[in-house]
Amino acid sequence: MDLYDIGLGNTDTKTRAGAEQDRIKFWESQARNLFWFNPWHTALEWNPPFARWFVGGKTNASYNALDVTVQKNPNKKAILWEGEDGTQRTLTYQDLLAQVSKLANALKQLGVKKGDRVTVYLPMVPELIVSLLACARIGAIHTVIFSGFSAQSIRDRVVDSKSSVIITADGGRRRGTIIKLKDVVDVAIADLDFVKNVIVLEHTGNNISYTARDKKWNEFVGSMEPFCDAEALDSTHPLYILYTSGTTGKPKGVLHGTGGYLTHVYSTFKWIFDICDSDVYFCTADVGWVTGHSYVVYGPLMHGATQVIYEGGLDYPTPARIWEIISRYRVTILYTTPTALRMFMKSGDALPNSNNLTSLRLLGTVGEPINPQVWKWYFKTIGKEKCPIIDTWWQTETGAAMISPLPGIETIPLKPGSAARPVPGVSISIVDDVGNKVQSDSKGYLVVEDPWPGMLLSLWGDDEKYKTVYWSKYKNMYYAGDFAKMDQDGYIWMLGRADDVLKVAGHRLGTAEIESGFVSHDTIAEAAVCGIPHDVKGESIIAFLVLRDGFVFTPNLKEELVQHIRKTIGPIATPDLLYFVKKLPKTRSGKIMRRLLKAIAKGEKIGDVSTLEDEASVDEVKSALAELEQTLKKP
Ligand code: ATP
Ligand code: MG
Repeated sequence: MDLYDIGLGNTDTKTRAGAEQDRIKFWESQARNLFWFNPWHTALEWNPPFARWFVGGKTNASYNALDVTVQKNPNKKAILWEGEDGTQRTLTYQDLLAQVSKLANALKQLGVKKGDRVTVYLPMVPELIVSLLACARIGAIHTVIFSGFSAQSIRDRVVDSKSSVIITADGGRRRGTIIKLKDVVDVAIADLDFVKNVIVLEHTGNNISYTARDKKWNEFVGSMEPFCDAEALDSTHPLYILYTSGTTGKPKGVLHGTGGYLTHVYSTFKWIFDICDSDVYFCTADVGWVTGHSYVVYGPLMHGATQVIYEGGLDYPTPARIWEIISRYRVTILYTTPTALRMFMKSGDALPNSNNLTSLRLLGTVGEPINPQVWKWYFKTIGKEKCPIIDTWWQTETGAAMISPLPGIETIPLKPGSAARPVPGVSISIVDDVGNKVQSDSKGYLVVEDPWPGMLLSLWGDDEKYKTVYWSKYKNMYYAGDFAKMDQDGYIWMLGRADDVLKVAGHRLGTAEIESGFVSHDTIAEAAVCGIPHDVKGESIIAFLVLRDGFVFTPNLKEELVQHIRKTIGPIATPDLLYFVKKLPKTRSGKIMRRLLKAIAKGEKIGDVSTLEDEASVDEVKSALAELEQTLKKP
């Protein structure tokens, strides 16, 4: 077992000990780090499966994210923004507060009230962050839709949330083209009369048409007063609705509250990133995903941090873009995804090596299991063996990180491929089908035993579905839908989605184990495996593989890879069929959609693909399968 004894030297044993002594009191002490208009009278009301944190307390997310820092250090830089075309903007906390106040006043003038929903469909520009905070300031519930989604996806979400106002832009920049956001919104809401107004940011200068319900940001919002008091809201007041990535099926409208959520985000941001005044933080996640909500908007801003926000492709116009940004802004903390890392890794070491990455001190990852090989590359090539790699496991539903190394408070050895231990105040177990804890190193399903502050309130407008999806498999335990194991040191290893578990000759295998086996071979950049029914074995393993740049497919390579898996994972994991493709089907948040591969391979309907990144990947998979069928038919 590889152990990496690298941390930041912090040794605060009190935090974990406090949580172990009394979980509720511990979270109360964490909540006191926030600003409250009124204290709470009850720390947790738990009517399974509904949790309400800090009941009676009054607070405001926008006040915590802005006013708290403005009062101490108004000129602190909040956002260092860079557009794909190279344009730069800097906003201080004071600037942000003024903009947020103007938009909050504008929303009020449009009749938006506490509890009303506002849909935000913007590219990664500062106004996206401004929009969330303006909603939060007046108690409106924001619901962000990633700016790459189609008219139909927007329509579905706007109908589901019944938003009366939509905030969008004339366009957004992505890989050299302009995505015409306003045009898409027009189609999406053409016949939705309950949408009263659309606020349009002029960002790209793209020519668009305006209708009676449209308001131009510059004119309308620009004319408002730059002061707006933050509403004192109940701790349990809904802050936002956010739809999940749709990796396993139709996206779910996750509903988050205020006080508990902010407490969990505030604490984990500090424990995970060890944030200090001089840091320049850069999270590559779009605000359209939960990582952007918690660790671009609320976490960093509540800590008065300075962060880089980038609009555009991280590999555009060249794969060096990400490294140039880090070097230009002297980024100290980078938080990204395994998918992005595999893409960077695919184009080799020369680019990161020729940029100055010496400012980096901490490297994070989230979203999918990180293959140990990719972890090591991140550690060595990007962090130059000086930065801890922080693998954080969590979900849209959990609101904030649940399992992660915490270099901000403790220094523990890191194991490539493991997200280490649950964060203080969160109780996680690995259980079998009937809910009994499994032994160390045995595989099972990940559950959360007690409610935690960042826990979702429910699914928007669907308490029944909330109960069924998360609370029906086990009694009083939250079912996360992930397959995992805990080792003897209490480190958790994520093995893939529960839905994707393979059953081969009576053994259960997680997709992540086999995929990481493939990625540990020098020729493989990415791998996705799934199981299809097999008369004798139960399931047979098929793999879709993307080669690293500079390698070509040969029959010998195929055999070599099969032997490699037999050696690294074991004969039980021997793949039956290997397909080489140029790209894998992924969600727009960068997660591999294995259910799609499985459906195509079994000739079934492919289900909800509204969050699919690229239609072409489906054709890729279909033609790889067809080609193989042809080969098999040949005499
Ligand atoms: P849907 O629920 O609609 O299928 P999704 O689960 O992909 O979509 P998210 O909430 O964005 O939606 O993703 C959470 C999931 O991402 C987790 O359940 C887990 O499977 C995976 N994940 C996140 N972080 C990690 C990590 N560090 N290691 C392993 N898996 C991770
Ligand atoms: Mg999920």
